[in-house]
Amino acid sequence: MSDDQSVHGLGPLRDELRRLGLDVKEGHLLARHTSFKIGGPAALFWEPPSLAAVLTGLPVIVQAGVPLFALGLGSNLLVSDRGFDGIVMATGRGLRQAAVSETDGHALQVGAGVPLAKAANLAQQSGLAGLEFAISIPGTVGGAATMNAGAHGSSFSEVVEELLVFVPGRGVVRMPVESLQYRYRKSRVQEEPWVVLEARLRLAPGSPDAIRSRMQEYMARRKKTQPVGEKNAGSMFKNPNGHHAGHLLEAAGVKGWREGGAHISDLHANFIINDGDATAADVVALMRRVRQVVFDQFHIRLVPEVRWVGPHDEDGTRNGNRNEEEGSTWDNLWLREDAGSSAPSA
Ligand SMILES: Cc1cc2nc3c(=O)[nH]c(=O)nc-3n(C[C@H](O)[C@H](O)[C@H](O)COP(=O)(O)OP(=O)(O)OC[C@H]3O[C@@H](n4cnc5c(N)ncnc54)[C@H](O)[C@@H]3O)c2cc1C
Repeated sequence: MSDDQSVHGLGPLRDELRRLGLDVKEGHLLARHTSFKIGGPAALFWEPPSLAAVLTGLPVIVQAGVPLFALGLGSNLLVSDRGFDGIVMATGRGLRQAAVSETDGHALQVGAGVPLAKAANLAQQSGLAGLEFAISIPGTVGGAATMNAGAHGSSFSEVVEELLVFVPGRGVVRMPVESLQYRYRKSRVQEEPWVVLEARLRLAPGSPDAIRSRMQEYMARRKKTQPVGEKNAGSMFKNPNGHHAGHLLEAAGVKGWREGGAHISDLHANFIINDGDATAADVVALMRRVRQVVFDQFHIRLVPEVRWVGPHDEDGTRNGNRNEEEGSTWDNLWLREDAGSSAPSA
């Protein structure tokens, strides 16, 4: 991608970051960083090796005004086949510190790039209960803080005490949980141009053996009900109020439906599997088809849980990871499609 085809400022940003000794790649394939194994190139891709590097680079990126996408383990993402015309910052290398708090033995301080399972194991080994639900959720602490990830009746918002966040124009800010507006799979982090650096999790004392056996039970349950080991991005749609998206989809008879290299899992109707050569376009087409049939049968509009990364319009001129821009949001895109039609035709 040449500078004149891409977001203004990418070339100068690349040069400035490299001048600061920061290792920025060009045209790096995002499929390598998503659990779906789908996604085109990031114009710029940066995997900072330390918190210090993160804090050196972020102000420069903000100053350049280039779209920024904070990437965890890519386990909740559908990345466009055309990729992302901005800079992707992966947290997995540089934000990996995890320890019991020095000031409070019932709290964990964990970097945003720490895998959730690693945080859950640390809690178990430290005799701290409350994070067992997280053992079976793929992804990082930063991703969970953004998505309010949850399972087995618990969610991240119940254990987080505060986040350390990089806020453009303000620098590093402590955000107490009350200010994070957590709801079901939603948080203020999704709506603000913030980068989560670290989380402080408040847990309770517990027996390591009892904690371990709960974690084992959760992992076993997951293996039975989800296509573990296949290329997917978890639940594609959120549970609508009072319903279970997977049950609606199953009742609509979509299991096994296919578009190109993508099909609906036989094990769980809310999971789409990449057979190996699926494109983002295949997945979107399949999502639209199954969403339509659920609307036709139950008059319920499913809203995607998976996050879209890449251009929001057909000709690819607009970009962004923050799904808040009026008229260009992943959710709105889908909702607008139905505007004015009380019952879409099949
Ligand atoms: C097999 C499978 C099962 C799953 N089961 C569950 C489940 O039971 N419950 C559940 O809630 N989810 C589930 N998921 C979805 C996913 O694991 C979670 O949403 C997870 O929290 C995403 O974390 P991540 O690090 O992969 O984030 P990514 O997918 O990389 O990113 C998700 C969002 O978080 C943002 N983000 C990530 N890190 C940061 C940061 N440091 N600062 C700012 N923003 C950031 C990204 O910009 C993006 O908007 C599942 C996924 C798979 C593949």
